[in-house]
Amino acid sequence: MRLRNIPGARDVIAESKYVVHEFFEAKGKWKEIFGNDNPVRIEIGMGKGKFLYKMAELNPDINYVGIEKFSSVLLRAIQKQEEAPLNNLLFIRMEAEEIADVFASEEIDRIYLNFSDPWPKDRHAKRRLPSRQFLSRYDTFLKKDGVIEFKTDNRDLFDFAVEEVKEAGWKMEAVTYDLHNDEAMNEGNIMTEYEERFSSMGNPICKYIISR
Ligand code: SAM
Repeated sequence: MRLRNIPGARDVIAESKYVVHEFFEAKGKWKEIFGNDNPVRIEIGMGKGKFLYKMAELNPDINYVGIEKFSSVLLRAIQKQEEAPLNNLLFIRMEAEEIADVFASEEIDRIYLNFSDPWPKDRHAKRRLPSRQFLSRYDTFLKKDGVIEFKTDNRDLFDFAVEEVKEAGWKMEAVTYDLHNDEAMNEGNIMTEYEERFSSMGNPICKYIISR
């Protein structure tokens, strides 16, 4: 369900203090923006932000930035923030292809990719968020010891992502093809909106954690 056109969504976003509007100017200034030295973690393709809101609530000493290209779903994340604000959670409305222009070297501690769009056609492979093209963008701003965590129920996308890890010269730290039945990897797992939906249909959830 994607609510593409909610009247007024763009106006609400344009006026929201929870959205970083001048995101290209934010590069290298995220500590200043949050007003502290805490680590900054991002979710790319956040949707309505359920996962990131929960993470921010559970971890007040970590800052989170949710990135989402569609106003309609970002609006839901903003509404949640307005109801019960957390001072360690901000949003950006943008297309992730430009992400290397938003964060400076070593500025980001961890990247979450949850249920990324599969782009099933081969010619669209470079648009997939765990593709080698995106990994090289992440490489420009992820801390040297930082990690990427990726979850999906889409086995084809996951198999592709695992291959890309090798191709891009990254290291597999941990992997499971059935997260909810993997005691070690599932510990402390926060379900995303799509994860709840697809696991309730019986789909196993795949997850990897990678580093360089
Ligand atoms: N992460 C959420 C979850 O697990 O419930 C939402 C998953 S939804 C399938 C994927 C989301 O990623 C959509 O809201 C989509 O608009 C966003 N998205 C996909 N590609 C993106 C991109 N290149 N830049 C920004 N957002 C993107």
